[in-house]
Formats: sequence, structure tokens, C-alpha cells
Amino acid sequence: MKALQLHVDHVEYEPVRREGAVSEEVEPGVTSLREVVVLFASIEEQDDEEVADALLKEVAESMERLGADTLVIYPYAHLSNNLAPPMKALHLVRYMERRAREIGLKVHRAPFGWNKRFSLSVKGHPLAEQFRVMTRETIRVEKRTVAQQAQPAVIEEGETQHVQLGRELDLFSIHPILGSGFPLFHARGRIIRDELIKLIREVNARLGFEEVWTPHVFKSDIWYQTGHYEHYRERMFTLTARGEEYVVKPMNCPGHAMIYASRPRSYRDLPIMYSEFGTVYRNEQPGELTGLFRVRSITQDDGHAFVRPDQIEDVITSILREVVRVFELTLNGRIYSTLSTRPESYIGDPARWDEATEALKQALLKAGLSYEIKEGEGAFYGPKIDIDAVDSLGRRWQCSTIQLDFNLPERLDLKYVERDGTQRRPVMIHRAILGSIERFMGVLLEHYNWRLPLWLSPIQVAVLPVSEKNVGYARGVKDALCSVGIRTELWVEGTLEKRIRMAHQTRASFTVITGDEEEETGTMTLRDYKGRIVKGLKPPTFTSWILDLIKRRAANVGEIDGSLKTEM
Ligand SMILES: [Zn+2]
Repeated sequence: MKALQLHVDHVEYEPVRREGAVSEEVEPGVTSLREVVVLFASIEEQDDEEVADALLKEVAESMERLGADTLVIYPYAHLSNNLAPPMKALHLVRYMERRAREIGLKVHRAPFGWNKRFSLSVKGHPLAEQFRVMTRETIRVEKRTVAQQAQPAVIEEGETQHVQLGRELDLFSIHPILGSGFPLFHARGRIIRDELIKLIREVNARLGFEEVWTPHVFKSDIWYQTGHYEHYRERMFTLTARGEEYVVKPMNCPGHAMIYASRPRSYRDLPIMYSEFGTVYRNEQPGELTGLFRVRSITQDDGHAFVRPDQIEDVITSILREVVRVFELTLNGRIYSTLSTRPESYIGDPARWDEATEALKQALLKAGLSYEIKEGEGAFYGPKIDIDAVDSLGRRWQCSTIQLDFNLPERLDLKYVERDGTQRRPVMIHRAILGSIERFMGVLLEHYNWRLPLWLSPIQVAVLPVSEKNVGYARGVKDALCSVGIRTELWVEGTLEKRIRMAHQTRASFTVITGDEEEETGTMTLRDYKGRIVKGLKPPTFTSWILDLIKRRAANVGEIDGSLKTEM
């Protein structure tokens, strides 16, 4: 059986004429339904009730995730060239209708054996369109693998959609020849990355993190010294050249520690903080790699603070306050914090652990965060705070980590001179706010259903001249917008209707249309993605409005709202 499952805002169909020898009796007239899932199904030669059941099960599971409760079974012969004889097909269609009711769905069924006129409007989200193939063979394979299946099917399905949309929107692509887990960021995807980096750069500046840069490959000696070689070996990419072994960095910490160690430090210098948007490489299991969510080239918004023990609380409080702001700006601000405490085997002085853990608690309190304690789940080298963000689909994503480390300063012999002249060890704090830029971008794209807020949007404005003779004026409008930093594209090719559709498909935030009328009056027509239109808009009015939205990093995803003051 082959089936195309569409989550629609609206579907309408009407039987027009009988198609073949087997056709059902129907009441004439138009059936019109809203907010349903339509299943166009082609029943094939080998199908039977078990195949129908298996397919329905998939559909029902998917509908549950979509929050849809009404299914329209629509017999549709055009998905296969291996169709079942009509009587058998009709039997299975009726069987599916009955079974769908039995498993608790509301069901409508389009008549079998009729030519139908139909129209529908599919929702735009990544799971709105799904193609399903179910055969006796699929069921057998599924039965064999169900026992050892580690990843739920939803991830794979979501992943396929995710990867496909990434390519369609020209954001990123993944190529088997380059290896899985190594996404390429296209120009539009790179813009989103850069906007996120820009945001964190501002955060770093407020916190006092100085941005540094370190290479991607180090000799293996350092990794022996840090202990990574021993504990992290299987996830590191190593290489040998001229008889020497090198490691492609799986983390940025040793580089930053060496910068710290490059000169003597006094208690007055601390805290010393370095940040880096460092791409690290981790050899994850191929089975664990899913779209942007788990990659092998990971760009962290990494940072390391070298602090005196008495500075832990203040430094972490200010980091946490920024974390809260970042998630309010980027997602919906819903976060969960956890504090992982001393495990059974640990290094260092237990009194120091207790003090540091208390400092973390105070910091959470001061930042206004409630938290859950994960007793004994800290790393052997220090306690940590993890922060999960929640997306619009209610999924929790582990993003920020603030990890205290008593071990690395010891291993790398990091020191500072105390007021009394004695040598002391700083505490190292590893912190990332977004975590992995790639993964965070994946979360954002799905959270916003691929239509990002204006400040993150790769195409903020698409300028569409009505006809060839309006191109000159349109170019002037485009140049003016570009000159103040608004990401604007001028689209000339194809009919206006086609370009408007393209603006919608590529998720351009706003469309500006300029024809004769606009040219004569020195104005523009603004169109948002919902099709709302404002005519006679003066370019400076639009520019200052949109610039303000971008500057404020407003949540506006491309909608004309009340803040646009239109003067005629
Ligand atoms: Zn680190």
C-alpha cells in the first residue's frame, strides 16, 4: 500500500463521475472538512488486512503527534502502478475505515470508484506531508527489528523532514560522500549561525569573556596530559603524520588553559575568561546522528572562566542571568535547571566540593531559577548546572552547561599568586549557553516551524517589481534597504504570482511590491506572509519600523502588526 498523508487546514471534494466497473453509491454534493488529516491511499496487489492495519497504526501514531483526530480516507489510484483488483481494493478501503473507527479516530471516507474534483490546503509544518509505503515485507522487517530498535520511528521520520527542509530552504545539506554528521551550511544557513554567534558575542562582552581562537588539531601529548586520551579516546578523531600522532580537538578547553598558563597570573587578574566559537569534532556513533540535532562537527559557544574559589558564585550568577535572557529571546523562555552534585568517586577536597556546590545553589537562587538536584550525578571533577530549553512541541533540549572543574587546573598545573604570595590553583568553569550552534539552530527551526523571527531570517525582505519597467525603482528600494543592513533580495524572474509564492516557500519575512503606482507616488506595497497588505507605504517609514524590530530581536516572524504606523 502506498499512501500520501497530508495534514490540511481544509479539504473539499465532490464525486463527478463513475470511474470503473466497481463504484460505490454516493450522495451527490460537496464534502468540505477543516483541520483533518487526509490519507490518499493506493491499494496494491499484495496488500491484505495486516498491511492495512500496519499502515493505519503508523498514521494513528503520527496523528497523535500532530494533535489531529479526524482522518479522511481517500481512495486514490495514482500512487502505484501495481494496483489491487477493484473489489479487493474496495474491501480493504472499507476495512480501513472500520478499523480506524475502532482505534478511536473520527473518520470520513471519500467514495471509491469515482472521479472526484478536489481541492485542499496543506499546512506548512515539517510533518504536514508524509509519504508511506507498507508491504508484507516491511511488516516482516519491522517484526524482526522491533526488539533491538533503539531510536523511535518518530526521530527518523522527523529527521528526514528536517534534512529535506534544510536543503529545500537552501540552509544546509548533508552528503553521504562527506560522511554523516558533517552538515554543510549554505549561505542562508550561515546567516542564521552568524546571528546566533552575534547574540552570544554580545553576551560574552557583557560577561567579560574575551574571544580567542585556537587551532583544530593538537599533538596527542596534550590530550594525554588532560586525560582525554585515556577517557575519551573512542570519540576522538586521531591522525598520524610524519610519525607523530595528532588529535582533532574534541573540545576547546586545553587551548584556553594554555593561554591562561602563558604568563604569570595574580589573584587581582582573576576572573580570567576566554570564549571561542570553536568547532570541535567528535566521532559519534553513526546511528546517533540525526540532521542538525547530533552532528560530528560541533560548533560550541564555548567559554572558560578561571576563577578564585570566592568568585564562583558571582561569575555563575551573571552567566545564569544571561542564559535566562538568551532563552527568552530565542525560544519561549521555558527552561529547566538541574544541579548535579558530587558522585561517589571524585577528585579533590570534599570541603571544597561542598563550598562550590553551595555557591552554585546560591547562584541559581540569585538568578531566580528553580532547579532539580541530581544527587551524585556530577562529573568526577566537579559539580555542574545543566539547563534544558523547551520548544513549541514540548520537547526538552539540553542546551546550556556550566561545569566546575577542579581537575584540569591540576593536570595542567595552572596557578595564580595569592595576596600572601603563595601559589594557588584557579577553579576552571566550562560553560556553553546555546550548547552546539548546529543543534540549537535545528531546535529553533522546528520551534518556529521553519519561519524564523525577523532578526534570524536569512531573507528579511524580497523586493518584487510588478513588471520589467519597474525594475529600476525596485532596485533603488532594495539598495536603500541593503545599505542599512536589512537582508534584501531583488527578484525579477517569472510572474509576480510565482515570485509571491516563492517568497512564501523560501520563508522570506516580508515582500515589497513595486509597480507603476508605487513608482509614481514614491511608495511601496508591503505584503506579509499571511497575505496582509499595506499600500502606499513610504520607504523610510518601513525602514525604521523593520530596523527597530531587527534591533530589538523582536519575536515577529514576518507579520504586519500595529507597531507599523502607516501614514497616507
Ligand atoms: Zn571546556
